[in-house]
Amino acid sequence: MSPIATLVNSTIRPDVQAVASYHVADASGFIKLDAMENPYHLPHHLREDLAQRLADVALNRYPAPAYSSVKQRIRDKLGVPAGYDVILGNGSDELISILCMACAMQDRRATVVAPTPSFVMYQRSAQFAGMDYVGVPLKADLTLDLPAMLAAIAEHKPALVFLSYPNNPTGNLFAEDDIVAIIRALDGFGLAIVDEAYEPFAQQTFMHRLPEFDNLVVMRTVSKLGLAGIRLGYMSAAPQLLAEFDKVRPPYNINVLTQVAAEFALDHLEVLNQQAAALRAARADLMAALAAMPDVEVFPSAANFILIRVPDSDAINAKLLSHKVLIKNVSKMHSVLTNCLRITVSTPEENSTFLDAFAASQAA
Ligand code: PMP
Repeated sequence: MSPIATLVNSTIRPDVQAVASYHVADASGFIKLDAMENPYHLPHHLREDLAQRLADVALNRYPAPAYSSVKQRIRDKLGVPAGYDVILGNGSDELISILCMACAMQDRRATVVAPTPSFVMYQRSAQFAGMDYVGVPLKADLTLDLPAMLAAIAEHKPALVFLSYPNNPTGNLFAEDDIVAIIRALDGFGLAIVDEAYEPFAQQTFMHRLPEFDNLVVMRTVSKLGLAGIRLGYMSAAPQLLAEFDKVRPPYNINVLTQVAAEFALDHLEVLNQQAAALRAARADLMAALAAMPDVEVFPSAANFILIRVPDSDAINAKLLSHKVLIKNVSKMHSVLTNCLRITVSTPEENSTFLDAFAASQAA
């Protein structure tokens, strides 16, 4: 074995060596419908104002670690209940890992439970923090298996249960009553994390219900709203919990450019909200068009992406790639997703290019 391989083996955890890197496809030259991004830019006049604000930022200084002004705007504009604060993450990815780091015990293995398939970082972050992960399969119709979730909670007494609302990669909203049943089942020993990354497209939230449940954490991101590039997530919960999570957060995790760009965007939130409304309308059109095609099963979506099932997902995906259209082939993620593809909703123009390429792929 080479000296460097010996060094890797003696220093890096075997379970880290064993996993594959988080794969991000190279999208250059493709219509990019794989990552749930908002296809719209800020309008030109706003971009000029933003450029000025960014030019004035003191790049030589660390951020002020309280992040008061951006947090104030989030609290005021994004429905955080009175008396509740938020903590910020470098994307909600970082918040997931902060939650796991804060809850991984040293004297025993703590557990994370989540429905599966769901967002892959729940499992990864649990693993890297040294927690056990228990995935509870969704039912064949992709709805939550509440009895199985409650049984897993009773058996494993998880510290954390992650619920993507709506769920990625399936797009559906789990029943509100089921989520409440899970929150109640965890009462006294575990936290329910309702991950509302796709809230702008679902317009359903647990944020206003925080005061009802001490063990509820509501997590969101500005990524899908149109700011994926700045990397900003936020979460709210009882102040006593937030104070603990905040100790695990790296002190300057949100950079000054992100901070200023987020403040600017939140001052113009109506622009992003209009874009989300356009995407919701485009989602309805795209779902209807797909449903009218032969051999396509379209699942309900409350997100900015649509899950479909086709007779041969690998073949369709390969043909879409040859048409320079990038979507996500999720068919191997879990057996309930056999032959499923996930398509991000985009502009009417890109959606129709996709539909043409899809029709051609079916015909070929
Ligand atoms: N939660 C869910 C359910 C997601 O699908 C994603 C991204 N795909 C994230 C969280 C992470 O978002 P970000 O790190 O961009 O905030």
